[in-house]
Amino acid sequence: MALRITVIGTGYLGATHAACMAELGFEVLGLDIDPEKIAMLSAGRVPMYEPGLAELLVKHVPGHEGSTGRLRFTTSYEEVAEFGDVHFICVNTPQRKGEFAADMSYVEAALDSLAPHLARPTLVVGKSTVPVGSAGRLAERLAVLAPAGEGAELAWNPEFLREGYAVGDTLHPDRLVVGVRSERAEQLLREVYATPVAEGVPFVVTDFATAELVKAAANSFLATKISFINAMAEVCESAGADVVQLSKALSYDERIGGKFLNAGLGFGGGCLPKDIRAFMARAGELGADQALTFLREVDSINMRRRSRMVELAREQCGGGFLGRRVAVLGAAFKPNSDDIRDSPALNVAGQIQLQGAQVTVYDPKAVDNARKMFPSLAYADSALEACEGAHVVLHLTEWQEFRDLDPAEVGAVVAERRLLDGRNVLDGPRWRAAGWSYRAMGRPGE
Ligand code: NAD
Repeated sequence: MALRITVIGTGYLGATHAACMAELGFEVLGLDIDPEKIAMLSAGRVPMYEPGLAELLVKHVPGHEGSTGRLRFTTSYEEVAEFGDVHFICVNTPQRKGEFAADMSYVEAALDSLAPHLARPTLVVGKSTVPVGSAGRLAERLAVLAPAGEGAELAWNPEFLREGYAVGDTLHPDRLVVGVRSERAEQLLREVYATPVAEGVPFVVTDFATAELVKAAANSFLATKISFINAMAEVCESAGADVVQLSKALSYDERIGGKFLNAGLGFGGGCLPKDIRAFMARAGELGADQALTFLREVDSINMRRRSRMVELAREQCGGGFLGRRVAVLGAAFKPNSDDIRDSPALNVAGQIQLQGAQVTVYDPKAVDNARKMFPSLAYADSALEACEGAHVVLHLTEWQEFRDLDPAEVGAVVAERRLLDGRNVLDGPRWRAAGWSYRAMGRPGE
């Protein structure tokens, strides 16, 4: 009989994983402690914006015309334990308040709720991003909490999906990494991932600690690459050079490559910032903190980009924000997502508002989330509305919609035609030709 899969924690990662497991042909039961989320998902509605996910839900959640009915949701751990052969844990691991370390309480709570109900042989697979050493500790916890002799086992299978591309990344990942302690665990995971593996996706089988570290190392490398080019942007600004041309020239070197090499406002979101901090904290606990001191610099360079954007905006406003209107285009931490966790755009918007500006934010998908988190900012229903009467327009999240804006049309509603491109992707010459002052990070001014 085909494996039955459960997914515990149906946020950005879990909802996508559950829908993709159903797409791969499995019967799937998703669980969350948030009953509102479960009600939405059960009705075939996605609680967040992720391209392609809504279509998958409708295709697999029962009650829709032609649906496979393979994907259901619940809030009951008993039901999940009874249903599943393989349980994926996808709950959040945020930064602990006031510390760099990861907050493991959600993962522990999920395991504690599930384990006592596991009355038959099962595999519990951690997908959340956790500090190295967690899987070993959680395996012991599972052995203590699960009913004796029933064969509940743990494996670790870190997730590398990118928000905005989560469905494609889950169905066709670059690689699959599994940390296992038995042949049986490996075989079960091979069965789960049979389709992508048959398509040629590399399947890396390793121990718990290495699997956990692959995730931390991948995020550290990506963060370092972004901060590297942003450090170059700082030097370019001092030297009067152009970081976009520099980055392009670098990218022809195959050893370097062009991905993640765009200078701008830097990274944010619910993963990279907290993951590199948690990695530094964990390395400290292990006595290996010196190995990761460079990550502190990576983090500082990244945070400095936000202050630099505020500084540039202040300059554009004539040296002070009081009484000035600022339009902020973008609230999500990246395009094609409504995720505003540690969003550089909102960080900048908040700083500018605190310094006396009237800030109006627009984002194609993230305004509702932003309004909940930052109710003191003003929000608009369109880019044009946000720009009305603005003394400066800040482009802070690179949505296609902003690239498509007509400089003349926007120019007709602003108070002053001043544009700061925090993502280095707008067509500067086109904006300048329409009478705008166009300034980008790491590039010479006019
Ligand atoms: P999220 O906050 O969107 O989702 C977490 C979900 O878990 C929430 O719906 C929450 O209600 C639920 N939850 C919390 N405690 C629970 C419990 N005890 N039982 C059941 N459900 C519970 O977070 P996310 O972005 O999906 O991230 C989840 C994990 O995946 C994190 O460790 C993150 O670092 C990792 N990750 C995320 C991404 C990403 O792009 N979002 C990519 C790779 C890895």
